[in-house]
Amino acid sequence: MTAKFDIEEILEEYDKEKLSIATIGSHSALNILRGAKEEGFRTAVICKEKDAIVYERFPLADKIIIVNNFTELLNEKIQAELRSLNAILVPHGSFTAYLKTEDIEKQLRIPIFGNRQLLQWETSREKQRTWLQKAGLKLPKTFSSPEEIQGLAIVKFPGARGGKGYFLVDSPEKFWEKAREMVRRGLISEEDIRNVHLQEYIIGVNVYPHYFSSVIRNETEFFGVDRRYESNVDAIGKIPAGEQLRLDLPLTYTVVGNIPLTVRESLLPELIRMGDKVVEVSREIASPGIIGPFCLETVIDANLEIYTFEISARIVAGTNVGIGISPYAYIKYGAGMYMGRRIALEIKEALKRNKLKEVLT
Ligand code: AMP
Ligand code: AMP
Repeated sequence: MTAKFDIEEILEEYDKEKLSIATIGSHSALNILRGAKEEGFRTAVICKEKDAIVYERFPLADKIIIVNNFTELLNEKIQAELRSLNAILVPHGSFTAYLKTEDIEKQLRIPIFGNRQLLQWETSREKQRTWLQKAGLKLPKTFSSPEEIQGLAIVKFPGARGGKGYFLVDSPEKFWEKAREMVRRGLISEEDIRNVHLQEYIIGVNVYPHYFSSVIRNETEFFGVDRRYESNVDAIGKIPAGEQLRLDLPLTYTVVGNIPLTVRESLLPELIRMGDKVVEVSREIASPGIIGPFCLETVIDANLEIYTFEISARIVAGTNVGIGISPYAYIKYGAGMYMGRRIALEIKEALKRNKLKEVLT
């Protein structure tokens, strides 16, 4: 259980007139900090010395806290400093990449915007699947062992490593052949093979819709869409087929950036309903459910079937494409709305209505 009671106690000590919005310096920090500033909050960023240049050149943080390692966020000294700033932490992908979700849940005695219990759901593939299936979404099939592989399958390994080491196979024989070759080249370990996740490969285009579940306005807002720019999968098409065959290139999905997208309007009804259903189920699995931003990772095939293969229960870096220019946020809010700002707006509205406790855990 989340230490909800503690968080409320901590909040009582806070000077509500002087709240800071704080985050780790990476991923979507500029998005979050800019949004916080725009809504009139103080800000703080916890970053590594080598990355401080970003927050100096884009001076959005009132306070830059330098750490050697992001796990230092769990140290009492840093936590006390953040509490003295009346800080609310906004979690993003670097939190789940560099900290254990269990530590975030149990050791981080700082109010977090969002539902910290759900961070655990997003870091477990099995839990994610249960959640998405309960919401009635269409998922790629999974194969419980390499021997069951039929048709094209994507081979995934544990942990957030940006699709590094993933490969495609179309039979059990190909799986073992490629897996052994990758171990030999030191790209994956034997342990990785035991923990492999095998999924039907959906041929289609990637679409990553972003949503904002507002507790204060009681609505799941459809906020924007992006697609990823991944190395080297997005580079392979530039090499002629003959050379591709000779090079036998390893397929990787290392995220380099994101590209903004709008979708066919006729896809919107389903995408909007999918977001609503995911929020509904989140209330059953981890009350009070999603608070704030989340994102679905989907592939849409030639029949316009939408397959969801992942969920992120917090802000995704794909929302960075919306800073200042998000089409769907514009349609709802007019100019200048984007995810980082929407988060700050929710905190501001919660504060005004004395409902801060409802958006923090
Ligand atoms: P980083 O702090 O850049 O290492 O990112 C933390 C986690 O978020 C890693 O798992 C990255 O793969 C992921 N990530 C970072 N930036 C992006 C991005 N622009 N789009 C999608 N995922 C990202
Ligand atoms: P992930 O680490 O699960 O986010 O996957 C990394 C990348 O692999 C995604 O951005 C997609 O391009 C691709 N991908 C993952 N799962 C599938 C799937 N089932 N079918 C097709 N492409 C996929």
